Amino acid sequence: MIKQFVPQEFCLKCRGCCRFKEANSVWSPCLLDEEIQELLDKPGIPAASIAIDRRIQPIANPQGIDFICPFLETLDNQCRIYDLRPFECQLYPFLINLRKGKVLLTVDLNCPYVYEKINSQEAKEYIVCLTNYLNSRALRSMFKDNPQIIQAYGEVREVAELNLPHEIK
Ligand code: SF4
Repeated sequence: MIKQFVPQEFCLKCRGCCRFKEANSVWSPCLLDEEIQELLDKPGIPAASIAIDRRIQPIANPQGIDFICPFLETLDNQCRIYDLRPFECQLYPFLINLRKGKVLLTVDLNCPYVYEKINSQEAKEYIVCLTNYLNSRALRSMFKDNPQIIQAYGEVREVAELNLPHEIK
């Protein structure tokens, strides 16, 4: 598991994540192949929770007009698959981003915690650790096997360029 930058107590009160404007939102987490298998092997996970493009399939929010992750418990804002939560969920508000042929580590400043902290020493140190981890041999291999998680997200800020093998890009 990736160490979270945003403290859990902040996330639980925020109610920003895991919610989407559209059912086919590009912000819905994209899954690694092994994560899809792990979820499908778990009792009680409907196959319809995973879309054909390997994203989690958002559902209509029974308490609103938006869409939510089918694994979000809206009453207490908890993830029902927290111990199995996908790589992209662990990484957020950081995202892997393909831009002009480069694979970048970017950050979504819509997260109010990271918006406040992005220029802090804490954030700088976290980004260095995270970049080293993402450039590690194990992660490079994971990206090679799962190119679907290198997405072209708009409106996110670049924080580092990743050193991924040319064939992944
Ligand atoms: S899997 Fe969990 S952390 Fe990821 S979007 Fe769904 S509820 Fe949120």
